[in-house]
Amino acid sequence: MAILLFADHDNAVLSEQTVRALTAATQIGEEIDILVAGQNASGAAEAAAKLAGIRKVLLAEQDALEHRLAEPTAALILALSGDYGTILAPATTTGKNVLPRVAALLDVMQISEITEVVAADTFKRPIYAGNAIEVVQSTEAKKVLTVRTASFAPAGAAAAPAPVQVVETGAEAASLSRFVENMLSKSERPELGSARIIVSGGRALGSDEKFRSVLNPVADKLGAAVGASRAAVDAGYAPNDFQVGQTGKIVAPDLYVACGISGAIQHLAGMKDSKIIVAINSDEEAPIFQVADYGIVGDLFEILPELERQL
Ligand code: FAD
Repeated sequence: MAILLFADHDNAVLSEQTVRALTAATQIGEEIDILVAGQNASGAAEAAAKLAGIRKVLLAEQDALEHRLAEPTAALILALSGDYGTILAPATTTGKNVLPRVAALLDVMQISEITEVVAADTFKRPIYAGNAIEVVQSTEAKKVLTVRTASFAPAGAAAAPAPVQVVETGAEAASLSRFVENMLSKSERPELGSARIIVSGGRALGSDEKFRSVLNPVADKLGAAVGASRAAVDAGYAPNDFQVGQTGKIVAPDLYVACGISGAIQHLAGMKDSKIIVAINSDEEAPIFQVADYGIVGDLFEILPELERQL
């Protein structure tokens, strides 16, 4: 049966996570439709239509869908679900908000944060903070999945765009929840989730002033996003949304530079899929060196300023 990919977007722009989740969808089967639910979302729908390997884009527009609150969006997906054997979404805030509700309404078990498609009904997903990989075979007639997008490459572009089909929504305004405000952090730097390079700092930075004055110049030279360990966030050296790890963001950049981070499993769970890992740590026994491609044993307060000069 066909596959429905619930797109993540901000009405104007389709997210990179959707493009990556499409790769997972193409590994499951061939007849893939992308659902763009929103309001004034033709920009996102047109971007989706240009992706390779899809049959069509379903565009559902209504005030109630503008912010993709769980109740009206899940009702929409449920109304469409009869035509699909698999319903999936990237494991973003919206995907993780909407799909469990869809799964519950369909009375099936969701398989969360898949990292590999073994077969159309069998998936790999990390458990125990990424320390073990579980292989799950689903016997559900309808499969509901979220996709850990860092594990999949972005899908390519199509030679010709797929058709965009407008669907009647019938979605009613949510009664249990309402949209109040979107408070987005503003930064000149790339967004942590999609950055190609990340420079991350740990407890060793010692203060928020040091975090900024020692880490930022290197990040600026590399055009990198800045990340942090939980210890650095808890100590107030870096804001919450910098946190990388099990309870922070899951990232997989081309280059991850870990500075003064010991490499606790909860931190590794968020960054060990990075293509190249560089670790700077004064303790040569630090566990971070076990996952690092390049390790520098030394004092980061000497190494980072020197690195900045060299860059
Ligand atoms: P530390 O472990 O204290 O390491 C500091 C490192 O800096 C040491 O290796 C030290 O050798 C080195 N160092 C010291 N001085 C210097 C210097 N001058 N130059 C170079 N190196 C130096 N952590 C996360 O990061 N992300 C998460 O999402 C997360 N989620 C968690 C969830 C749970 C349920 C729990 C229990 C924990 C979680 N943690 C998480 C916390 C995690 O266990 C660690 O405590 C944390 O990652 C440690 O941060 P750190 O490496 O910065 O600090």
